Amino acid sequence: MRQERLRRTEALVLREMDYGEADRILTLLTPGGEVRAIAHGIRRPTSRKVGHLGLFYRAEVMLARGRDLDTITQAEALEEFEDIRSDLLRFTYACYVGELADRFAQQQEESDLLYKLVVTTLRRLGEQPRLRIWVRYFEMRLLSLSGYQPEMFSCVNCRAAICPETNFFSLEQGGLLCNRCGQGQSGARAVSVNAQKVMRYMQSHGPDEVRRLRITDTTHGEIESLLHSYLEYTLECELKSVAFLHRLRRELREAERASAR
Ligand SMILES: [Zn+2]
Repeated sequence: MRQERLRRTEALVLREMDYGEADRILTLLTPGGEVRAIAHGIRRPTSRKVGHLGLFYRAEVMLARGRDLDTITQAEALEEFEDIRSDLLRFTYACYVGELADRFAQQQEESDLLYKLVVTTLRRLGEQPRLRIWVRYFEMRLLSLSGYQPEMFSCVNCRAAICPETNFFSLEQGGLLCNRCGQGQSGARAVSVNAQKVMRYMQSHGPDEVRRLRITDTTHGEIESLLHSYLEYTLECELKSVAFLHRLRRELREAERASAR
């Protein structure tokens, strides 16, 4: 079957890179997969695509298939996520979500569920307080829809049901090792009972329940660090936005302390 040269699709701008004098190359997440496309002349103030295709914009675009890159011939913004761009912390979290979405989309063709998950997560990051919870929920959902859902209910080695005690997480085997199997196993990291509970809860509950979760800073930090390691292990790469996120949060905390003095 001959592929249509022109196609219309909804798309979310995940990355942008200036190209030449007035063009920009965009990485677009679409329900049908990830696409790299060039927007000719978009940096000219007179361009009709300006105002429709910023970072994290959701837009309806017309794409013309090219040999290496598609060309964006038309664009109409559907959602701008203004609240994300006007707040540095929200924006930084969105960049992290975008980086993960980009990495996972490169590994799989069908991305309808991924597309919906990313759009919903960006909405939550724009509108809701407690950004960290929504980022953790995103990571957990992302892992399960990509087939990497961490096993949190039974031991990945002996299959025994996980007991409420300190157990161990194996990045390699993608889940918990019971206390007996995990002891002394190199590379397995201890996971507290509370962290295990929260992760299981996120796997088995929807956003309305997750919204009401109370998590201490210590437990949250533990889950965050574990999920980052597991995501990096799964993707076989370092996530660039993580270091920036940590630095920004540190600076915000210091600024808060300084203003409280
Ligand atoms: Zn075991």
